[in-house]
Amino acid sequence: MLALPLLLITIVDGSSATLRLETRDTQPKLGINTSYMDRSVKVKEPSDLSKLAYGKWFRDTVIPNDKPGVGSFDIVYENNRRILHKILEAAAADRTAKPNSSSARVGLFYRVAMNQTKANRLGLRPIQTELQEIAAIKNRRDLIRTIADLQSKGVGAAFAAQPQQDDFNENRMVATFGQGGQILPDRETYWSADGAPLRQAYIKSGTALFSLAGPGQYARATAEGALSLETRLARVSSTPVELRDVAANYNLLTMGKLKAMCPSIDWNAYWEGVGVKAPKDVNVGQLKFFKGLDQVVRYVPLSNWRAYLKMQLLYSISPYLSDEAAKSQFVLASTIQGQSEREARWKRASDSTDASIGEALGPLFVKAAFSPAAKTRIRLLVHNLLTALGERIPSLTWMSEVTKKKALVKLSKFMVKVGYPDKWRDYSRLHLKSDSWAQNVMRSNHFEWNRQWAKLGKPIDRTEWGMTVSQVNAYYNQYNNEIVFPAGILQPGYFWPNADDASNYGAIGMVIGHEITHGFDDQGSQFDGTGRRANWWTAEDKKNFDQAGQGLIKQYDGLTDDFGQKVKGKLTLGENMADVGGLAIAYLAYQASLNGKPDVEIDGLTGDQRFFIAASQSFLGKVRKAYSAMLVASDPHSPVNLRSYVPSSDNAAFYKAFGLEVPTDLPHVW
Ligand SMILES: [Zn+2]
Repeated sequence: MLALPLLLITIVDGSSATLRLETRDTQPKLGINTSYMDRSVKVKEPSDLSKLAYGKWFRDTVIPNDKPGVGSFDIVYENNRRILHKILEAAAADRTAKPNSSSARVGLFYRVAMNQTKANRLGLRPIQTELQEIAAIKNRRDLIRTIADLQSKGVGAAFAAQPQQDDFNENRMVATFGQGGQILPDRETYWSADGAPLRQAYIKSGTALFSLAGPGQYARATAEGALSLETRLARVSSTPVELRDVAANYNLLTMGKLKAMCPSIDWNAYWEGVGVKAPKDVNVGQLKFFKGLDQVVRYVPLSNWRAYLKMQLLYSISPYLSDEAAKSQFVLASTIQGQSEREARWKRASDSTDASIGEALGPLFVKAAFSPAAKTRIRLLVHNLLTALGERIPSLTWMSEVTKKKALVKLSKFMVKVGYPDKWRDYSRLHLKSDSWAQNVMRSNHFEWNRQWAKLGKPIDRTEWGMTVSQVNAYYNQYNNEIVFPAGILQPGYFWPNADDASNYGAIGMVIGHEITHGFDDQGSQFDGTGRRANWWTAEDKKNFDQAGQGLIKQYDGLTDDFGQKVKGKLTLGENMADVGGLAIAYLAYQASLNGKPDVEIDGLTGDQRFFIAASQSFLGKVRKAYSAMLVASDPHSPVNLRSYVPSSDNAAFYKAFGLEVPTDLPHVW
């Protein structure tokens, strides 16, 4: 993976159609879903907060068959998808829209995606060109050309490649390579005992897919060949914890050095395949991986490579092909995530439209679901949180005066993006057709690939968004020193435009605080306000900061998900810091917003209680065991059962709000 911005992350994909949101309308002033609460719970210890906040929801909720889990993100996302559904159905039916308009573009994409009969009739024909290209690989030059070609169409072949801002020069984009090319979610699953069901599903799924693509007698052997090559790539891949080390994952090499390190890879052929002039240098994220990849290219027979590339192609594009192909792919996809049914076609088509041409769909979503008044209120909330942290920093006991000054400078340079981009992406050079869903997906991926690579050598566009606007998510991007909140998360569940402040500060306020503190976490703290990697800390401050982190590592190391699977404190440190710090700042901002006025009780709940209940509800969730195991192994976020109360348990105000004694050893950073 490339060093992508740190995400709040959508914890599970999609949500239940059976979950209803009507309670938000009956309680508009409260900003809490009271129907989720178990009011019989008396908070005696921190974990009781979750029981009080959503005990009833947890008891009553059954995870639908087409989901790996459900949670607050999904409930909001499901509502967003209902809005998108209406938009897309209307756009698909409207044949009078201007040819180059957003409506015509998303209408065409969605209409083609919805045509199941045609997809079934076409079978694998939409990927015939790619299958033939793979079958025709005769030498290493063909191999690397094909890898580049597949990458350009969105297939994760062998490794990841994309231009990215240079860590040490905020005005330059540099070609960046990262490890990749593996379908299973975590490297350990390629050989661990726990990974056996995933490997079996891989073979089963691969065998079914290869049977569709050629003579069935070799299908199983081909699937085994593909898996063995992936296993070799997994062996030389870094662990999720190793990937968090910013310095170790930045290695700027000249093309000459890269060629010397990987002599078996024809890099000239690669750049021809990418379609750009060979750059003078490349940032190679993981040296060990690329040295290993070179060995795999050198020693693994081309027949094995062909099997592997075919599997990557079939696995990533089959969801957009015939039902037969999509179901064969789902055998593995569902084992990874634990759900037993595919989602309804309109949901898959809607997600795919958003993923492919999200900035054509975005303006239509904003018009339907995000008002200028909501934008104004969120801007104010963000401003108040930034102010709260600015007021907090001078009183930190562990940070020296000189570092505090620099932290405040970084804070003052935060860029804030709320709702949607100021200018939308221009898709006029993307030519979608009515031939097939799969080809439109590949065309869109190719358009994006070219758009990304065209950035080399050009000034950096700081207005760009790295997420589509209907996503229930948010991010901090250290290269821009920016926090970004799409309209999709600024919806009831996180943000009620007409609700009281306490719950809004607890829910969306915590999310905002979370993203702000990423600017100062184990990774973000290594970049300054201009987006350049720089050490602006004194050694002593850094030591104190790391020590504060140690407290959190220890705390989370002792915790588990709902199934007793142990959390990795070190892997989740940055996100835990953001959760604990984000909640603390949101609370300070809430207090400041009262401006000396007394806290008003609503529905028997004090403002502070509403704040913590809303914070807990914004991470409510229920996840299947298999999916939770995968997340615990590789996700830098803690499981939701912890995110919904542990940050509160590290905050003295939580204990006071519920009449409990405040512990003397609370870990805290901010
Ligand atoms: Zn985060």
